[in-house]
Amino acid sequence: MTASLRRVVIVGSSLAGLQAAQSLRSAGYGGAIIMVGDEPHLPYDRPPLSKQLLSGSWDPDRTQLRPDAVIARLGLTWRRGVAAVALDPEQRRVELADGGTEAYDAVLIATGTSPRRVANPLGLTGIRTLRTLDDSVALRAALEDNPRVVVVGGGFIGAEVAAEARRRSLPVTMVEALSVPLSRGLGTRLGQLCADLHVANGVQLLCGVRVSGFEGDGHLERVVLSDGTVVDADLAVVGIGSEPATAWLETSGLTLDDGVVCDSFCRASAPGVYAAGDVARWHNPLFDEVTRIEHWTNAREQAAAAVATLLADHGLGPEPAAYAPVPYVWSDQYGRRIQVAGRTMGAEEVTVVHHDPDDGATLALYRFGCRLGGVAGINASRRLLPFRRMIAGRVGWDEALAAAG
Ligand SMILES: Cc1cc2nc3c(=O)[nH]c(=O)nc-3n(C[C@H](O)[C@H](O)[C@H](O)COP(=O)(O)OP(=O)(O)OC[C@H]3O[C@@H](n4cnc5c(N)ncnc54)[C@H](O)[C@@H]3O)c2cc1C
Repeated sequence: MTASLRRVVIVGSSLAGLQAAQSLRSAGYGGAIIMVGDEPHLPYDRPPLSKQLLSGSWDPDRTQLRPDAVIARLGLTWRRGVAAVALDPEQRRVELADGGTEAYDAVLIATGTSPRRVANPLGLTGIRTLRTLDDSVALRAALEDNPRVVVVGGGFIGAEVAAEARRRSLPVTMVEALSVPLSRGLGTRLGQLCADLHVANGVQLLCGVRVSGFEGDGHLERVVLSDGTVVDADLAVVGIGSEPATAWLETSGLTLDDGVVCDSFCRASAPGVYAAGDVARWHNPLFDEVTRIEHWTNAREQAAAAVATLLADHGLGPEPAAYAPVPYVWSDQYGRRIQVAGRTMGAEEVTVVHHDPDDGATLALYRFGCRLGGVAGINASRRLLPFRRMIAGRVGWDEALAAAG
């Protein structure tokens, strides 16, 4: 017998959360949808926070994911600016920080991630992370004070902040623990091309070192590195990755392991509980691997997939398909677009199949066993697309190389 579905609670009212609400309504679900989000804002988009909003070419309003009228038509019950603090799968209810509770027939967890931080025992100001709209607005204001900038971590967000700071002609030092920034996701060859791009644009790049401390009198004045180097700075932007926002689920009894562990259909380990987006770890049948993806496209696609399962489990939709996407991410730096599709980390072989030294356009393929597992490009969108399709089609390595010509 299938359980009835009258109340769906969505925890995390951002990209995956809003997509889930839209998917529920598009499928004809007319019951209650309660949106619980700890931020005060209506759902907004995060990629512009390190790009258009940071540069000042967009105002904060423009980051809102859907116009007010579209959101109003969804008929959602909002619990905005209130964190969920616990989930009780037995009683099927979510407890809120304001003391309230929300009962559910089904709950979707879409709480994303929180940035990792570097210890700041002196409580100095001038040390920032970038995850929220408020972070971006505050960082933009800080950049307008013409600070000397240290970017801690050479991942995509750190690299985009460094590029924006250089666009403003600010002195920028990037500190990266690996020997080549972005090499974890892109491999050393493409990572080095990105590193060269930063150096050519005036970034002082320090690799193979970590931050060991911050010094100053109230406000940041110096960043101390693990090799003893001291860098004078007024602003440090820490971009060293993030952790899934699951602290509120510690007492829930759900299986948690670097995220909410789900099956291939986005079901968490208790009946009526689903997860999607940056917070979800699931088995991707396409690569036969358990994974968690922190990319925009995945948050939307996985939310739609989780809703398809949720509706099917309640007798309101067809048998769902396993969620088997080709992950995809992009990043913009110095006017170049970097794109990655599929998986790259742990590749057994990386082959650069196109490189134009004049315009910098580059494409690399990543081999896993005898299959094409991933593709990455710099300013190579058109060339990348067919390989993205080949990854979905489980094409062999030799065939992919032959297609590259
Ligand atoms: C600065 C920046 C730039 C990015 N640029 C790109 C890019 O160029 N390309 C790309 O592919 N991806 C990019 N991303 C990643 C992309 O934005 C994320 O993958 C996407 O936002 C994930 O969506 P989500 O809904 O799963 O989580 P989130 O967007 O993180 O939303 C989760 C929401 O849940 C809320 N929440 C957390 N805990 C609770 C709780 N206990 N109770 C209630 N609410 C809670 C959070 O405050 C947040 O509002 C970027 C991310 C950032 C931060």
